[in-house]
Amino acid sequence: MSTPYPPGPSTPPPPPPPPVAPAVPAASATAPPPPPPSAPPAPPAAPASGAEPLIVRTDADAKDGLVKCLRCGATEISLNPANGHLTCHFCRFEWQGQAGLASLGLDGDIGQLTGIVMGSGSVDIVPSTDEVLTFKCTACGAEVVIDTAHGTQARCHWCRNKLSMNQQVPNGAVPDVVLPFSLPKAAAVAKISEFVNKRQFFAHPTFKAEFNPENVMGVYLPYMVVDVNAHVTLTGQGEHETRSYTVKDGDKERTVFDVDVYDVARDFDLHVDDLTVESSSERLSRTSDSSNNIINAIMPFDVENAVRYDSNYLAGFASERRDSNIDQLTPLALTQAGDIARHKANATLKFYDRGVRWDDEQVQVVGQRWVAAYLPVWLYSYHQTTSDGKSFLHYVAVNARTGETMGSVPIHKRKLFAVSAVVEVIGAIVGAVVMFVGG
Ligand SMILES: [Zn+2]
Ligand SMILES: [Zn+2]
Repeated sequence: MSTPYPPGPSTPPPPPPPPVAPAVPAASATAPPPPPPSAPPAPPAAPASGAEPLIVRTDADAKDGLVKCLRCGATEISLNPANGHLTCHFCRFEWQGQAGLASLGLDGDIGQLTGIVMGSGSVDIVPSTDEVLTFKCTACGAEVVIDTAHGTQARCHWCRNKLSMNQQVPNGAVPDVVLPFSLPKAAAVAKISEFVNKRQFFAHPTFKAEFNPENVMGVYLPYMVVDVNAHVTLTGQGEHETRSYTVKDGDKERTVFDVDVYDVARDFDLHVDDLTVESSSERLSRTSDSSNNIINAIMPFDVENAVRYDSNYLAGFASERRDSNIDQLTPLALTQAGDIARHKANATLKFYDRGVRWDDEQVQVVGQRWVAAYLPVWLYSYHQTTSDGKSFLHYVAVNARTGETMGSVPIHKRKLFAVSAVVEVIGAIVGAVVMFVGG
């Protein structure tokens, strides 16, 4: 998996622009007709069902319980964002996690992908699975519970060791891979301050007074990383303008356009690499919500650098558990694949300067690959209560890999209105001057 959307260079180029069928004789159109309407996107066809999905085990030798420092045996382990290594707080020994997708057999040539391939951390959630699981502390024998709704680690209350859950249970708490934080908190605080400072002028005074970027939280958000191997066939008609001229029509003049109409077809393999789809139903159901748009705006993530899941990467961070299954997410992923297909075809249609209308769109999915992942985000949230008692949650989010930042800031409305009034007054003065000079 290398390049996220749009599909990477591994995809073979679609056929060149020349029309498939020869030109239909030129039609003399009078007034410029509106460009041909684009056919409504047909939902891509799902792959032939019947074949069982291939499940690739991603937690084969994962250990539950005490995960110890290889040098001193301590369990105080967390991520060092500076280099992506796990580090022991006791003796400072550092080591690297296991490489992700490629070593798990969940990468490779998308063109060879058939049927459904998924990581074992992506299997359907079993609703009856307990959220609170009990583990035996191997250091002292005590029973320790891990509340998987809030994380995959807990501290033994008798011996203070940390217990981790790394084996997958069918409740969505343990994904296949995790993309570790690489942007330290201090850098995220600086990004958030910069974002808010640029919007100082219009920001609400209460927000400005209460703004404290140190309150930023690191959160791992649940995503599905999807590869799609599809075959796309598009057929329709395209128009190319050959000349335009003016003719007299009584007293009036009108412009006439000569247009060639062609049958157009495109037929190509589509390899979609590393599409990322939210797998938290709460966020999926709020697609128009500003917080969701904010997260989409800080995409993409370099998911090809994700490592095999290890609870120690989450130490000190919050996480949100996956609660959606592949069946629920497939329509969304395939709609996005269809968008990518049309976008790809559009790049070859420059000749048809008056547009192309697709009458038939077939996206035949040959293969798909699903991997459950945690992606790292720094979130600064601010709760605003407006004068009429309504409350809004504002966010500034920072992609903890790239530093890309987006957010919403409470606006000081009176200041905003004052500024637009000034602009209008200036506009009126300029208008007056122009009239004066012209008169
Ligand atoms: Zn150690
Ligand atoms: Zn213990």
